Amino acid sequence: MLCDYHVHSTYCDGKSSLRENVESAISLGMDIIGFSGHSSIDTSLYCMTREGTKSYIGEVNSLKKEYADKITVLCGLEKDYYSSDDESDFDYVIGSVHFVTDGEKLYDVDHTPAITRGIIDNLYKGDEMSYCEAYFSTLGKLFDNVKADIIGHFDLINKFAEKGIAFDTKCRRYVSACTDALDALLIHNVPFEINTGAMSRGHRRVPYPSPDVLKYIKEKGGSIIFNSDSHDAKNLCYGFDIARDLAKQCGFRSRIILTQNGKKEIDI
Ligand SMILES: [Zn+2]
Ligand SMILES: [Zn+2]
Repeated sequence: MLCDYHVHSTYCDGKSSLRENVESAISLGMDIIGFSGHSSIDTSLYCMTREGTKSYIGEVNSLKKEYADKITVLCGLEKDYYSSDDESDFDYVIGSVHFVTDGEKLYDVDHTPAITRGIIDNLYKGDEMSYCEAYFSTLGKLFDNVKADIIGHFDLINKFAEKGIAFDTKCRRYVSACTDALDALLIHNVPFEINTGAMSRGHRRVPYPSPDVLKYIKEKGGSIIFNSDSHDAKNLCYGFDIARDLAKQCGFRSRIILTQNGKKEIDI
């Protein structure tokens, strides 16, 4: 089964239309494509607008019918912890954290290495671990605001690890903050995505999350799902062979897929 549930379109910061993505998915031989537009946040430019979200839902649902004999199309939402979007109109929700905050403004953790460095220096007085702790403590509270069906890019703060912002992920403070977030999320029994989005966009050579995180998820009985976080129709299912190898190395023998009738566990 070739399925991808983390797909952005021109309704947010993707380059391809919904239809271009569906056509590309069919030519790749995919079984299921799930769209996951960015939930609206008033101050953020890459998100769907509230009006845009209504059109997005309408268009995905019409493509769902139009292509029903060729592919399953699902209407999802990548909902950020800081968004107040209603979840009821969607087939599934990816829960993600993209920001840290000083209590007034939101600051993107995944925009550019320079912006991330500026956040660490200005908000956290240069203390990288305080930054990591802030991110993970917000992620640990995800379900306070997001009824997620998938946990999005768990350790997104490592997006620029190969671009000069590499944290000491073995140090006590990092491990403690990361493990607390994992424990808080694992009790909800939803899959963590292996996300190849930073690979297709040239930021990383490996997916999120790290092998340490994946091994912990496996050890605690958690599950995984493969997602491309695609922003271009040519990147659907990008690097899934690498995701599969990583999952196997970390002990997984199965993965989750979402269908119109709920979630299923299948061989990796
Ligand atoms: Zn995201
Ligand atoms: Zn995304």
